[in-house]
Amino acid sequence: MYTSPLLLSSKHQKESLLQPVFESFGLSILVNEGFDTDAFGTFCGSVPRPEGPKITVKEKCLAGMNFAGKRQGLASEGSFGPHPSVPFLTINEEWLVYIDLDRNLEIFGRSTTLEVCHSKLDYQDAEQLPTFLANCSFGPQGLVFKNTENLQVLAKGIQDRTQLEQLMHQYPKWEIETDLRAHMNPLRQKNIIAAAKDLIERMHSYCPKCSQPDFSVKKVSGNLLCEVCLQKSNSYQYLEYSCTHCHHLLIEQRKDKNFEDPQYCNHCNP
Ligand SMILES: [Zn+2]
Ligand SMILES: [Zn+2]
Repeated sequence: MYTSPLLLSSKHQKESLLQPVFESFGLSILVNEGFDTDAFGTFCGSVPRPEGPKITVKEKCLAGMNFAGKRQGLASEGSFGPHPSVPFLTINEEWLVYIDLDRNLEIFGRSTTLEVCHSKLDYQDAEQLPTFLANCSFGPQGLVFKNTENLQVLAKGIQDRTQLEQLMHQYPKWEIETDLRAHMNPLRQKNIIAAAKDLIERMHSYCPKCSQPDFSVKKVSGNLLCEVCLQKSNSYQYLEYSCTHCHHLLIEQRKDKNFEDPQYCNHCNP
């Protein structure tokens, strides 16, 4: 069904995260050597990202396939930003896409998490340095070092205490922040693996009518009834699976519960 190896247009050793996930489905990964993904935006702000991660990942994948002269490919893209409803929390959203031009397939895998390592500290709060380093698991988690006088990035991927201390000695007006690149950020790695599992699952769920992959839940609908007052709650009742190719639709009752808890009911607990 899938042509192996799959071309991966991505930097920062993401292949080492993705390979084990794809291997369990008999697929191997081929890194798109020489393809420069930095043109699609970087985390340190040197190249701005004009589009959201879903559009960026698709463009990156197509450009990578074009570069390598392949009709199938994979790409990965992540972002950090404020949580849509709780803005003081940071959310990490990871996207993966599989594109097959011959079969007209475009399958997205996604994972979001609030478990992130995204923080900074500057010389004015130097006494907090030991706590900062412990909280962000410095070592496996890398750091970016900036000079606050001109906000210039002086080093990235710092994982060594001696190197950090030397830089702080050399540039007393420092600012450090967690490196968000995948190979320097263990929590992000975990989330990329979750997005890869989501993608693999979609690549292997076939439409019962036309056999096209990505027969998955595209929408939820209905309202669960409250188990006490039997009025409609705001929680969904059905999962709607649909095919992007033939539009076959399958509506299924959700499996985790049949009624809603009264604590989520607007009548029992307004
Ligand atoms: Zn109720
Ligand atoms: Zn179909």
